[in-house]
Amino acid sequence: MKQVSRRTFVKLSALSFGVLGLVKQGGLFVADALAAAPDAGIKVLKYVHEITADKLPGPAKRNLKQVQKFFEKKTDIAKALKVDATTVLPQCKYCKFYEEPNKEGYGKCKQAAKKPGELVYKNGWCSMFNLEKNLDKLKAKMA
Ligand code: SF4
Repeated sequence: MKQVSRRTFVKLSALSFGVLGLVKQGGLFVADALAAAPDAGIKVLKYVHEITADKLPGPAKRNLKQVQKFFEKKTDIAKALKVDATTVLPQCKYCKFYEEPNKEGYGKCKQAAKKPGELVYKNGWCSMFNLEKNLDKLKAKMA
C-alpha cells in the first residue's frame, strides 16, 4: 500500500473539507440567498421566507380570510390534507404558483423566483399569492 506523508494527508484533508464546503454551500445557496438577500423582483412582491400567525404581513390578511374560508367550506379537502381551517395560513404551499417542491420544502415559483435555480419556501408568502383549490394539485405541493 502506498504510504501518504503527513504533509500530503493534511493537504488532502484540507482539499476534502473545501470541496464539502462548496457542496454544502451549493445546496443551501438558493434558499439562503433568497431569505437573506432577496433580489429586487422579490422585494417588489414583498416575499417573506416564512410567515406565522403573529407576524403576518399586512397585505396577507386578505389572503388569510380567503384561505380559512376555503378550508372551512371544503371540509373534504381540509380533511384529506390534514389542514385546520382555523390555523391555516396563506403560505406558498397553498398557492397556484408553487411547484415541484423538494424534500426540504423549496419549490419553483414563476412569480417570485424567476432566476434559474431560485426557489421559494413552502411556508413563505408574497403579494402574488393565489389560492390553489384543486385537491390533487394541493397534494402534490404538500408531498
Ligand atoms: S406567488 Fe405564491 S408560491 Fe410564489 S412566492 Fe408568492 S405566495 Fe409563494
